[in-house]
Order: sequence, then structure tokens, then C-alpha cells
Amino acid sequence: ELARMLHFPPLYRDFEAFYTRNLYTRIRDCWNLPICSVPGAEFDLVERRTNDYGWTFERTGEVNRYINLGSYNYLGFAENTGVCSRESIEAIHKYGVSCCSARTEFGTTRLHEEVDELVARFIGKEAAMTCGMGFATNSTNIPILVGKGGLIISDELNHASLVLGSRLTGAKIKVFRHNDMEHLEQILRQSIIEGQPRTHRPWKKIMIVVEGVYSMEGSLVNLPAVIALKKKYKAYLYLDEAHSIGALGKTGRGVVEHYGCDVKDVDIMMGTFTKSFGAAGGYIAADRVIIDALKNHSHSHTYAMAMAPAVAQQVLTSMKVIMGVTGGDDGHRRIQQLADNARYFRQACKKLGFIIYGNDASPIVPLLIFNPGKISALSREMRKRGICIVVVGYPATPIVESRARFCLSASHTREQLDQVLAALDELGDVLGLKYSRQHLNDG
Ligand code: PMP
Repeated sequence: ELARMLHFPPLYRDFEAFYTRNLYTRIRDCWNLPICSVPGAEFDLVERRTNDYGWTFERTGEVNRYINLGSYNYLGFAENTGVCSRESIEAIHKYGVSCCSARTEFGTTRLHEEVDELVARFIGKEAAMTCGMGFATNSTNIPILVGKGGLIISDELNHASLVLGSRLTGAKIKVFRHNDMEHLEQILRQSIIEGQPRTHRPWKKIMIVVEGVYSMEGSLVNLPAVIALKKKYKAYLYLDEAHSIGALGKTGRGVVEHYGCDVKDVDIMMGTFTKSFGAAGGYIAADRVIIDALKNHSHSHTYAMAMAPAVAQQVLTSMKVIMGVTGGDDGHRRIQQLADNARYFRQACKKLGFIIYGNDASPIVPLLIFNPGKISALSREMRKRGICIVVVGYPATPIVESRARFCLSASHTREQLDQVLAALDELGDVLGLKYSRQHLNDG
């Protein structure tokens, strides 16, 4: 039956089913590629054989090395040499691989306590709590912060974990257009009884939920404007810094530092360890009363396995490097290198005639392919040139805004970036991807 379906795809119930199942089956060689090395500036890829349409898979047993522009290894801490991996290996020797317990039982080691304290110090809040998974940090803790009778106002491009967490609250959810401050204010204005003190509003609590850097757009939240609105309308602010902590700001303190805002004005500072720290898990940093409440009620704290000790050690060591506590100016150098690489790559792509989304400071560089039919061509041809990239299409983006999403790292060398740019230049011409008006006008 399966073989028959693969050869004669059935008529699908609707366009989305047709598009996602039928098309993505044909180009599935663009995703789920198994690697067998550290996800650093380069990685080793296990080769698979597919026919021209990516229709059939077969392991060839061959392993090849590629330049990696897909991993969220912003500061280059995903490495198997150096102080981070040395100390993480020591942690395995001391604590083993797993805690075999939730945090509230016997899953709290000295390392976990140290991580909680260090995160609070790094972020500049009274206290912090950590979870073994970034996704669960959002999805299980937002429902502790807001409940029935509350209102969540959410950016339309918020991550799935924020959307799920918001839905689980039972609160009313209103969505504003991406980074559109006028729309946010319009919703806030409509949501309160104007001129009434806080206690007379129809909502028990209003919480605005935004991200620091948006991972599909490379855009930065307009944080100063959001803070001004949250103060004006007496709302709370939840900021997810998954892609900005470590990567933005002079000392890696994220968008708050980037804009020179006061961390006191952001009630809930959330972030993950999966990107800039080369580790896993997430944190929430806030006032101590909030963290105490979260620790008492959070499902991920009480019912889920604690972060693995070696992962906690990776967080500790990489964060200390970023803070300059260890490693001299290595942390500062990495932050600077990432900023240089991101700026260099982004500007070179624009010069070549590509349309690039996002802010110049963002380490995520989305290059617009537009036509969904060209997704797989770009991915496959780049791979033929020794480069692995992430391509994204509907439903993760609007159907006509398919894109390649490059993640820059401090560990990319200029030679590697130039090799990628040369391949993009060639393929941009072949596939007709140089859409910028300037380029088209130049003929
Ligand atoms: N928040 C945002 C904004 C994210 O992009 C992600 C995942 N990339 C998460 C939360 C979930 O984090 P994790 O992958 O560490 O579970």
C-alpha cells in the first residue's frame, strides 16, 4: 500500500495537505540530513543517494565534510576541544550522564544551583530558574504566569513554544502584526477601559510576548517602543531571547543591551542555552518572587528530568567565557567575530543582488528565494559545492516567501564565508535569485 502511495500520490483533501505532503516528500532530501561530528563551522554529513526528485533514500556509507550554515552555533561553543568540552567531560566523570530525577527530587546538583545563580547574575535579575528544554521553558511556564481572565498580546511571528504556552494559559490571546507598534498600541488601547485605574480593567493581567531576534526574519524587536507601551498601558512584558542572548550587545547581554534599555523594564527575561552557549535547555530570569512561584508550580521543574550535568557544566563554562570570568578576552573576541561575520556576509549578499531580510546586527540572515519550486534546487546545488544550508518554505513562511536561512557563527572563517558567497553568486544567476531592484536595474 505504501509503495503504491509513493508512486501514485493520492488526491489530497486540501491544498495544504497536497503542498506539505506531496511536495515535501519529493524534496525531503533537503532536510533531516544525519551528521556525524560536532555541528561547528564545518561538519561531517552521512551521504544518502536519492533520485532526481529526492524520492528514494539509500545510505551510501560515504561521509563528507561540508561548510555548515545551518546550526545555531552563534559564538562557536559547539566544539569538542577547548575548556568547555574539557570541563563537560569532567562533569560526566563526576556526575554521570543523567540526573535520573526531576529538579524537585534529586535532580538538583551543585552545577544546577550554580547555573541558576550565574544566569541571574549574567542577565541582571534577582533570580533565575532553568529547564532541560528551551521549548518547555516557554510552553510550561507561560501558563504559570497568566491564567483565565488574563490577556496575552503576542507578535504574529512568535515561536511555536510561545504560541503553545500562550494557548495553554486559557487566557484571551490577541495577535499584533510583526513588530508593528501602532497595531500593538491599538490592541492595548482597545483592551483597557480608557482612563480607568489598573484594577478596573476587564483583564486580570495583560502580558505582551515578544522575541529578541525573530528566527525566520532576522528582525529585532523594537524593544524601546514595546517598553514604552507596556509602561503606558501597565502591562507585563515577556521577552524570549533565544536568538539574541550571547549574540547581541557588546557583552552578549542580548537586545536589552543592544538598545541600551534597562533590564528592570522587562518583567520576564527568557532565553535558551541551545544557541550561543552550545548547550541545551532554557532559563527564565525575573524578580525572586516570580522565580519562587515558577519553581513551585512549573511542570518542567517538577515533572521533567533535570538538565544533564554535563550540559549544565557547558552552560557554566561558556557563560563564564562570555562574561570574561575565564578565558581572558576570548568571550569578547567571539562576540566581536560574530558581529563582523554577520555584517560582512549580509552586506556581501546584498551587493550580489539578493534580497535579504532583517537587521544588520542579526546573526540570522534570511535570503529570499520566493519561488517554492527553487528551494530544493538551491539546497542541492549548494551541497554539490560543499555547503550545507537550511531552506524554509510554507507553512513556516508565507508560500511566496520561501527562503534560505543562514546562521552565522563566530567560528566561520572569512575563507569559508567567501566560498559560500562565490557559490551563491553562481547559483543566484543560474536560478534567477538576484531579485533586488538595484541589481535588476543594473541589467
Ligand atoms: N524560543 C525561540 C524563539 C526559538 O527559536 C526556539 C527554538 N529554536 C525555542 C524557544 C525553543 O528552544 P529549544 O530549541 O532550546 O528547545
